[in-house]
Amino acid sequence: MENTVTAISQTPFTATVLGLPRVGPRRELKRATESYWAGRIDADQLHETGRALRRDQYAELRAAGLDSVPVGTFSYYDQMLDTAVLLGALPPRVADIADPLDRYFAAARGTDSVEPLEMTKWFDTNYHYLVPEIGPETTFTLHPEDVLAQLREAIELGVPARPVIIGPITFLKLSKSTGPAALDRADELIPLYRELLGLLAEAGAPWVQIDEPALVTDLTAGELAAVRQVYTELTAPANRPAVLVATYFGHPGPALDALAGTDIEGLAVDLVAGGTVEELAAVPALANKTLVAGVVDGRNVWRTDLDQALSTLATLLGSAKTVVPSTSCSLLHVPYTLAAEAHLDEALRSWLAFGAEKVAEVGLLATGLSAGTEVIAAELDRARAAAASRRADPRIRNPQVRARLAALGPDAGERGPAARRRALQQERLQLPPLPTTTIGSYPQTSAIRLARAALRKGEIDRPEYERRMRAEITEVIALQEKLELDVLVHGEPERNDMVQYFAEQLDGFAATELGWVQSYGTRCVRPPILFGDVSRPAPMTVDWIEFAQSLTDKPVKGMLTGPVTILAWSFVRDDQPLADSARQVALAIRDETVDLQNAGIRIVQVDEPALRELLPLRRTDQQAYLDWSVGAFRLSTSGVSDSVQIHTHLCYSEFGEVIDAIAGLDADVTSIEAARSHMEVLDDLNAAGFAAGVGPGVYDIHSPRVPGAEEITAALRAALKAVPAERLWVNPDCGLKTRGPAEVEASLRNMVTAARTVR
Ligand code: GLN
Ligand code: ZN
Repeated sequence: MENTVTAISQTPFTATVLGLPRVGPRRELKRATESYWAGRIDADQLHETGRALRRDQYAELRAAGLDSVPVGTFSYYDQMLDTAVLLGALPPRVADIADPLDRYFAAARGTDSVEPLEMTKWFDTNYHYLVPEIGPETTFTLHPEDVLAQLREAIELGVPARPVIIGPITFLKLSKSTGPAALDRADELIPLYRELLGLLAEAGAPWVQIDEPALVTDLTAGELAAVRQVYTELTAPANRPAVLVATYFGHPGPALDALAGTDIEGLAVDLVAGGTVEELAAVPALANKTLVAGVVDGRNVWRTDLDQALSTLATLLGSAKTVVPSTSCSLLHVPYTLAAEAHLDEALRSWLAFGAEKVAEVGLLATGLSAGTEVIAAELDRARAAAASRRADPRIRNPQVRARLAALGPDAGERGPAARRRALQQERLQLPPLPTTTIGSYPQTSAIRLARAALRKGEIDRPEYERRMRAEITEVIALQEKLELDVLVHGEPERNDMVQYFAEQLDGFAATELGWVQSYGTRCVRPPILFGDVSRPAPMTVDWIEFAQSLTDKPVKGMLTGPVTILAWSFVRDDQPLADSARQVALAIRDETVDLQNAGIRIVQVDEPALRELLPLRRTDQQAYLDWSVGAFRLSTSGVSDSVQIHTHLCYSEFGEVIDAIAGLDADVTSIEAARSHMEVLDDLNAAGFAAGVGPGVYDIHSPRVPGAEEITAALRAALKAVPAERLWVNPDCGLKTRGPAEVEASLRNMVTAARTVR
C-alpha cells in the first residue's frame, strides 16, 4: 500500500504514562458508585464524582511535566465493558434497559432477571475484566459519545489529551465468541475504528493511543496477518490523529515487525516485563516512529533505577525518531500515592514508588533526557541512596533462611509413595466412603465484621477479639457436628483475607494503609508488599485450629494459603527471581504444617487458587514457571509425615495448560470447582493421570440458590462415572464466606443427605 499518511501532523511529546487508576485516592468512585446502586445518589452526582477525580489527576500529571495525558482510561466499571459499549456489542439481554448507565451496570453486575457478563483475569494481573460476548446476532455499531465527551472535557481543562481506546485485536481476542473465530470479525470493526479516529481528530486530538496488550501473547500466523491488516487499514485515511499502538505486559515478539511495517506513528513497549532493547534496535522501520519506552514499572511498587532507565533510553535514541519515557503499562495496577502512607518506615518508603511517584519519575527522566542529567542530579542522588539503602538493609537478606533453603536436599519436596500414604491416613482417619467436607470459610457474619472493626478502632482489646472469634469457631464446629459432616473446618473467622492474614504475620512483608488497587468494578484490594527474605517469627494458625479440634473428635483440617497464591496476590520483590521468593514463603508454610502436625492435626489443606493465574503469557515461559510453582507447593507440604493428609483447593475447573501440574502437586486430596462444568473436568484429570483423592464441587457457591438433595445426588452419580468411590470426596465448589448462614445450613444438609444416598 502506498504511504498516504505523510500529512498526519505528529505533535511531538516528551513524557507520558499509559493509563491512570480510577477508583480515587480514597476509593471515592467506589463509594459513589455503590451509593448510586443503592439509590442514595443520582447519575448526575455519580458523574460529578468522576469528573472531579479526573480533573485532579489531570492537574497532577500536568504539574509533573507530562505533556501528553491519557484520557479515557477512566471507567465506571471496566475498560473492556466500555469498549463493548463503544462498539455496540452489549449482549441482547440488556438491550431493553432504557437508561444507558443502568444498562451498563446490568451488563457488569446482572439484575434479578439478567445474567451479567462473565469476568476473568486481565492477562497475568490481578485486575478482572468483563468478557464481551460476540455472537452471530452481534451487529457492531459505533457509540463514540463517552469517548468524545471525556476528550472534550480534558481539552476544556487545557489538558494535552491523548484518547485511549482498546484496539480491535485485543477486543476480539479477549471476547467470548459464539460464532466464528473472533478475529474473523476484525473486518467489521475497521470501519468503526476509522470513523472514531476521524471524530477524535475533528475534536482536536493530535494522538490516539490504541491498546493492544494481546500482542504480547503467542499469535498464530493468521493473527499476525490480521494485526498487519488492521493497522494498515486504520492508518490509511488522512483525517485521523497520529496513532500510538500500546503493547504491554510482555514483549510483542513477532507482532513488533507486523506493527512496525504499518504506518502507525508510534509504538509503546513494556521494557520492564522483558522487552529487550536489542530487539527494538533491530527493527529498522522504527526509525520513523515515536517509541514510547515503558521504563517505569506500571504494575509493581518499586522506585525506578533512574540511572538504568536513562541508559536504556539513551541506547534507544538511535533506533526511533523520538524516544518518550513512560510507564510500562497503565497505572491501574498500583496504589495512588505513597504520600497517603503514614506508617511505612522511612527506609522502606524510600524504596517505593506508587502512582504519583511514578508519574514524577517519568517527568524526571524526560527532563534528564532533554536537558541533561546534571539538571536532575539531586534526584538521581536520592534514587541512588534509596537503592543503596535497600541493598544494605538487613531485612533484605536473612542468612538463616538462606542457609536452611540451601541445605535442603533434592528430595526435600518428596513424600512417601501415594498408596502408602493413603493406607496410613485411612487407618488413622477412619473416614466413610465419599467423605463430606467444606473448603474452609464459613459465612463472614456481621458479628465477625463488627469485631474486626472494633479491634481496629481500639474499642475492644485483643483478648476480647479472640474470645469473639472462638465463639464463632465454636458455633461453626457445632453446626458441622449437627449436620454430621465428616471432616470439619474452623471456618476462618479470624481471616480478613487469605493472603493478607499470612502476610501480616510473616517477616519480609509490609502492609499499606491506603494502597488500594481495583480488582474489579468497585472491589479493591490492598496487596501486601513483599520486600525482604521471608520468615515466620511464630506459628500463625495453630492456636485457632487446635482450639477448633479441641471441640470435636472428628478431624479438623488445618487451613493454609499456599506460596504461589501468597505471591500472586502481593506486590513482589524485583531484586530476585519469583521462584526464590516462592521457596522462602514455602519454607514458612512448611514450618506451619509441621507445627499443626505436632499439635495433633491430622489433615492440612494448603490452598492454591492462584496457581493458574501466574502462568506466563508466552508458552515458552510456562514450563519453567510450572516447575518452580509446583516445587514450592511440594516444599510447603512435604515436611509432615505420611500419615498427615494434605489437601489442596484450586478455584476453577478449566485447567488447560496447568492440568499436568495438578497431579504434580502430589496432594492427597484436591478440591476443585466442577458444579458449573458438570463434572467434565474429571475426565480431563483422569486423562492427565491424576490418581489421588478428588473433591469436585457438587454445588455452586457463587449463587444464593440452595441446591436440592436430588440435584447433588445426580452430581455425585455423574462424578462416580469418572472417579472410583475410594477417591471421591463430597464438598461445595469453594469457601462459604460470601454466603448467608441459612443458605449454608440448608445446602450442606442436602449435600450430606446426597452423600448418604449414594453411599
Ligand atoms: N479456604 C478458602 C476459603 O474457603 C479458599 C478460598 C479460595 O479458594 N479462594 O475461603
Ligand atoms: Zn475456591
